[in-house]
Order: sequence, then C-alpha cells, then structure tokens
Amino acid sequence: MTRLLHPDVPARPGGVPVTTPVYQTSTYELPRTAEAAQIAEAVAPVGYYTRYGSPNAAEAEAILADLDGAERALLVGSGMAAVSAALLSNVRAGTRVVAQADHYTAALTLLRDVLPSFGVEVNLVAQESLQDAVDDTTDLVYAETPSNPAMVLTDLAAVRAAAPRALFVVDNTFASPYNTRPLDLGVDLVVQSATKYLNGHSDVTAGVLTGRAELIDRAWDTARVLGPTCHPFEAWLLARGLRTFPLRMARHNANGQAVAEALAAHPAVTAVHYPGLPGHPQHELARRQMAGFGGMLSFTVASAEAATAVLRGTRLARNAVSLGGTETLITHPVSLLFTHGDTATGIDPALLRLSVGLEEPEDIIADLVAALSAAASPGRRGPASPDGR
Ligand SMILES: *Cc1c(COP(=O)(O)O)cnc(C)c1O
Repeated sequence: MTRLLHPDVPARPGGVPVTTPVYQTSTYELPRTAEAAQIAEAVAPVGYYTRYGSPNAAEAEAILADLDGAERALLVGSGMAAVSAALLSNVRAGTRVVAQADHYTAALTLLRDVLPSFGVEVNLVAQESLQDAVDDTTDLVYAETPSNPAMVLTDLAAVRAAAPRALFVVDNTFASPYNTRPLDLGVDLVVQSATKYLNGHSDVTAGVLTGRAELIDRAWDTARVLGPTCHPFEAWLLARGLRTFPLRMARHNANGQAVAEALAAHPAVTAVHYPGLPGHPQHELARRQMAGFGGMLSFTVASAEAATAVLRGTRLARNAVSLGGTETLITHPVSLLFTHGDTATGIDPALLRLSVGLEEPEDIIADLVAALSAAASPGRRGPASPDGR
C-alpha cells in the first residue's frame, strides 16, 4: 500500500513541455525551513495550496493583466465571484455606492438586496445619467457597459470626472478588453466573466479582476476567505482559449456588424440595438469608447408571439443563455424572467438577444431570415429537430 502511494518515479520527468502542464494538485510540498511560513503568508502564492493560487491560475492572470494594461490580475471561479470579491473587498457599513438600475441579474441582486442588508448605502440610477448621479461624496461607482440586453453604454470618462474620489469598478464582460480598456479611461478595478469572450468556447466558468496591485491583493484576501477558486484545469483551458482571443474578437466584431446590418434592413425587425449601427443613440460614445462593437446585440419584432416564433425557428442559433462562445446563441429574455425570479425589469417582451458566433456571417443571417419569415407565415418552416437545433 505504501509503495502504491509513493511510486518510484522522478519528481520532474522528461524535458521541458511546450505547453504548461495542468497542476492538478490541491497542495504543494513545502520546504522544511522558515521559508515555509513565508510562502504561507505570501499574497497569492503559486505553490502552497490551490485555493490560494496555482501555476495555471498565475499563467492566465499574467495574460489577463497584460490584456487590460493592469499591474495585476486575480482569477476566480466565476464572473460573479469576481463581481462579489471586487465589491465585498471595498465596502463596509455606510459606504456610499452608486450603480445602474440595470445590471447583470445576479450583480443586481448583490447590489439591491445583499449589500444593503450589511448597511451599505446603494443608490441605483438610470444608466445613461450615471455621471449626473455621482459626486465627490460617492465612495464607489459600479458600472456595466454595454449592458444586458438593451446594449446601453456608460460614458466611463464622464463618470470618472464626475466622481473623482470614488473607487470606480466596471464590468467589462460584453465589450472585452479587445474593444474597451476601462483602466485606460480612469477606472480602478475591472471585473469580467471569463466564461464569455475571454475563454470563448462555452466550456469554462471563470472570472477575473484586474487593476492596481494593492486592489488585487485586497480582493485576493476576500476571495481566499470566501473561497471561489478557479481550479487548475479550468485555468488551463482559459489560458488556451486566450491564445486565440484577438482572432476570435476580430471575427465577433465583423460578424456582429454584418448581422446587425442585415437585421436592421429586414422588414419584420422593428429595432436593432447594436452600438456599431449609426442609429444607436450612443453611437458617437461607442466610437470614442470602443475599438470594435462586439458580437452581442438585441432586436425586437412585432410582438412577444413573433419573438417566440423566431426563437423556435432558428436552427443554427441555439436557444441558450451565456454568450461569447464560438457558436451563435439566441435567447428571449422575457421568457427567462421566471427562473431569474424577477418580473419588474421593463424588458420588451418582443426582444430577442443574440450572441453572434464565429460561423460564416451569411449562414447566421440566412438562419435568422428563415426564422423571421417562418414567424411571419407559420407553417413555412417545420419544427426544429428534437434536440432543439
Ligand atoms: C455572465 C456575466 C456575469 C457573471 O459571470 P459568471 O461567469 O456567469 O458568474 C457578470 N456580468 C456579465 C455582464 C455577464 O454577462
């Protein structure tokens, strides 16, 4: 039994691998000297205990910090772990927080229900006028741009100027660092769901915070206590996904623009919300703040019934939440409100959201046009196959 547990193999076999191995271990052998205590007390040690850090997390963090132009990055187990670590490490009873009335659902729950229960003062305001609702008494501003699913932008430079003293935290998941670099616009701390564009293959749940070392170290201390670890294999997959990040984003931007233009020209579509269209009410801001406009868009049709008919009619675009993967996904946000336990969001029941993938743009457009035609004259397109594709 003892030999089974301690086989006679070298600790470091073979040559130097070209890719980083997966460090699938929860703990690391420590030196039997005073150095062990130094490792135990370090911030985010890579070779101590995997909840504290790992070589795979450190590799992804180095890439992510570089993408955002940040001093440091912290990888955690989900986008919400990043949002909660960013906020919980910077608030206490009496902290004055200003945020948008529209946020990613779970972030809104944290801001509207959880933080106030600890005595944090949270003021939720209309997204377009966030800069008018903050001043030099604001301690923390939390923004998300573009927002889900209405594709409304927040003017980051204007908010920074209006709240000079506040810690400014931004959820940059929809834009991704390819299209917006919030730290360059005066933002202090960026949070992202790496589940989306950063990993890009719909096979990992992870989140990241980027910013000044002092802020990241503080967030690490909160994450160490709350425990939302990004496990070594997920971190490894993320580092692999990141190798093609700019190639994927260039294609998401091109496909997003092509699909938005095709939908805007379609007679059955009543509105398209995409910052890259000249008709978007904040197109000028989008051109200033974004290097490209991404693959996320939403559009409305004549009625809620027409929207569900379009949802049933697509074959290539699959009905699934999440975004930023290689495949095109479609959702009907209002149909999902019950599961999210929130009915008072004011989302148009005729609105559909698309995460435009990396397929040939003609194929995505043909799929949507066929679904729109079928919705207009029911019966022209048969039911989707049993697996929903
Ligand atoms: C998905 C998402 C999150 C949460 O990320 P998870 O990885 O699902 O925890 C936060 N913000 C935005 C904008 C998102 O799209």
